[in-house]
Amino acid sequence: MSEKHYDVLFSDKLGRYLVANKDLNAGSVIFTDTPFAFGPKQDSSPLCLGCYCPVENSVCSRCSWPICSEACEKSSAHQPECDALSAARVQFQPVQDWTEASPQLDCITPLRMLLAKERDPSRWQQEIDMMETHTEERKKQASWAADYNNIVNFLLNHCKLGARFTEEDIIRVCGIIAVNAVEIPSRGGYSTHAVYPQLAVAAHSCVPNIAHTILYNNYEVQVRAAIPIKAGDILYISYTHALSPTIVRREHLRESKYFDCECQRCADPTELGTHMSTIKCSKCDNGVILASDPLDNESKWKCTDLKCGFETSSAAMRKMLAVIQAEVDQLDALQPTPEAIEMREAFLEKYKSVFHPRHSILLSVKYTLAELYGRVEGYTIDELPDLMLERKVEMCRLLLTTLDVILPGDTRMRGMMLYELHAPLMYLARSEFSAGLITQEQLKTRLEEPMKCLAGAAKILQREDPQSPEGTIGFIASQSLEQLKASVESL
Ligand SMILES: [Zn+2]
Ligand SMILES: [Zn+2]
Ligand SMILES: [Zn+2]
Ligand SMILES: [Zn+2]
Repeated sequence: MSEKHYDVLFSDKLGRYLVANKDLNAGSVIFTDTPFAFGPKQDSSPLCLGCYCPVENSVCSRCSWPICSEACEKSSAHQPECDALSAARVQFQPVQDWTEASPQLDCITPLRMLLAKERDPSRWQQEIDMMETHTEERKKQASWAADYNNIVNFLLNHCKLGARFTEEDIIRVCGIIAVNAVEIPSRGGYSTHAVYPQLAVAAHSCVPNIAHTILYNNYEVQVRAAIPIKAGDILYISYTHALSPTIVRREHLRESKYFDCECQRCADPTELGTHMSTIKCSKCDNGVILASDPLDNESKWKCTDLKCGFETSSAAMRKMLAVIQAEVDQLDALQPTPEAIEMREAFLEKYKSVFHPRHSILLSVKYTLAELYGRVEGYTIDELPDLMLERKVEMCRLLLTTLDVILPGDTRMRGMMLYELHAPLMYLARSEFSAGLITQEQLKTRLEEPMKCLAGAAKILQREDPQSPEGTIGFIASQSLEQLKASVESL
């Protein structure tokens, strides 16, 4: 690796964490890292153990575990477990429905960690051995008994690995994966996860200052500064979903990473003024309902209008969010059809009196709508009436101004929203020009913003793997920018 731009420090509160050791520009690479091990996430449906595409009735001729092709059968990712599984003659048990989650693959990533430890004990010693496992807390979780059976018991007794690994080794590896692995996109588009030793040391914040890109080829991760970072600044990654409300993010972090986030965004009832957790009060006209102490999971939620005085419990709030989130999940399962757009608009209409317009639930639906307008049959960009072009613009801008606060700088989401914003801006300007509402000079001026959007999208998204959906859009954005420049010059 080239020059190192960070130091590893230790504190009681953060454990090990990373600090920039020089000033870094937005977009500059801070470090790259390769996974110690990677593989399917828990409860994955059967995926090819070479390329992670979904498979059906297709297995390795040697070990009989899911594999899509001869090339994947011989891939280096699959070899270690292929040896171990075929030596023990443990076969993948046929399943009824190959698209359903199956616990059978749960053992694969832990097994790969163990085998990698055996192959490279010094890297294990230097980079993995000191990682957090939170074993005692994990033993209290509802999933422990199933994990013990599907992974520990399976590897020790069915795979007969007791001579090579102890029960404690396996439990440790499971904890290291649970606490430290990050989700990675695979070529097949199916999510897998990986343990990156350096990335795992970065502290968490719900307002991160670094962004990471994973390359499909070798799963190398590139970690960049999302915003300008000063020497001495802590490097923060986010281990949760940016567009979730505080209650949901903190619950997710507690359950999956075993800590209570106290970042500035979590600590602020208004989520730094974004109002991503804010509910409208149904009992009065002017008040909104906010958590009185967002860092206390049992805190009351109170109307800001003191005369109104309405309050409710955080349990009631959680229940309401869960019920409405289930509706969003149903929307997200829809194919991109005109109905999918119309149902989302109906959803926004239904809940506009419940949530602040920037509430996470509405924002995530608006994010999807911003992508759907212009891309769906009957709603393609050249057939959208001006009113709908303006709607797309409005949603992109709402997302971008929110991202400025919670996910500042060069991130994939910003790149995608900038790309989505350029097209309606361009079409609206042209439509006004052809209606004679603006002059040619004004048209030129109006096309400057879509050019900036394309330039921003191209810059950010071309850092992604060229085969990924985002990387593809980055490439299209840079081509569209050239075309738009040429057409403006010819005006
Ligand atoms: Zn494959
Ligand atoms: Zn095999
Ligand atoms: Zn937080
Ligand atoms: Zn009220």
